[in-house]
Amino acid sequence: MRLIEYENLAKLNAPFEDAFRTQFEAVLQSGWYILGHQVQQFEQAFARYCQAEHCVGVANGLEALVLALKAYEFPAGSEVIVPSNTYVATVLAVLQAGLHPVLAPPDMATYNLDPQALPQYISPRTVALMPVHLYGKPCDMPALLSIAQAYGLKVIEDAAQAHGASISGQKVGSFGDMTCFSFYPTKNLGALGDGGAITTNDAALAERLRTLRNYGSQQKYYNQLLGHNSRLDELQAAFLAVKLPELDRINAHKQALAARYLEGLKADFIKPVLQEGYTDVFHIFAVRHPERDRLRQYLLDRGIKTEIHYPLPPFRQEALQGYFDPEAHPLADTIHRTILSLPCSFAHHPEEIEQVIEVMNAF
Ligand SMILES: *Cc1c(COP(=O)(O)O)cnc(C)c1O
Repeated sequence: MRLIEYENLAKLNAPFEDAFRTQFEAVLQSGWYILGHQVQQFEQAFARYCQAEHCVGVANGLEALVLALKAYEFPAGSEVIVPSNTYVATVLAVLQAGLHPVLAPPDMATYNLDPQALPQYISPRTVALMPVHLYGKPCDMPALLSIAQAYGLKVIEDAAQAHGASISGQKVGSFGDMTCFSFYPTKNLGALGDGGAITTNDAALAERLRTLRNYGSQQKYYNQLLGHNSRLDELQAAFLAVKLPELDRINAHKQALAARYLEGLKADFIKPVLQEGYTDVFHIFAVRHPERDRLRQYLLDRGIKTEIHYPLPPFRQEALQGYFDPEAHPLADTIHRTILSLPCSFAHHPEEIEQVIEVMNAF
């Protein structure tokens, strides 16, 4: 029996090692380590990839979300709608921008914001929607954008898990007012450290974000805004430039593994849905089962490692006690109690997936 890891970042990055070394040498020799050519070139390439006009590199995915919110200067305490079943970063970003997160329920088929349920969470204080393309599946952007337009709301997307995802050929990163990405090492486009970016078609917003990420300064030692130190490193941009041309290949590999799961797994498991026209990049391949914990142990006993995204919803986190009514989000509770992420990375072989399927189906 072969041990199957959930993921292995060294293995995942092994094909790019030589190119990474070349880039490291180039950055070292350049003597320019912050906000230089590498960042500028990567920003242009990533904007093009996302079919967006502009891209602003920042320190990480959380900072991308916080700076995007701050770029608008919403009145303090304004409400931003986020999904109740998201990773904690989306909720933290709203709080760190001095705004109030309002949790709206997911659609149980897609785990993304349910457009149908959304209007009842909109109040006169709501200023923005923050949809999350969870697990790599695009949200129903046509529906969300039309709701935003009807209520006069901004749309800032959390695409930390959805690099390369698309709807009818239109890439995530080109839909809302701003789209936020993370290049955390495990993401579909992952750096060798922290990194993030924001894409937008609005030149004025892009300019504001460039100022905000660099101490609120456009001209050295003169500060127009209360900014952050939130810059993407030259070194990380140089590494990302190696992987961006491979992103479609990385996504295709994960999609092929996901297709095996979708075909091979028995119907006892609630599998991700495929939607006409939607390209899901399967950052995470998650299934649901009422006996999730017993299933997870069963797999572990047979050498198969899994993950849970996420064991505890944001409204049940100790740090967020008092912010939300923990009993008001039953759909998110159901997801968090039953979801299980299966091995599905660029470093996995199809035979390993077949082995997981075989063990799963014997459960
Ligand atoms: C990874 C992630 C983030 C945060 O990204 P960091 O780069 O780790 O700050 C935000 N939202 C979601 C949905 C994520 O998966």
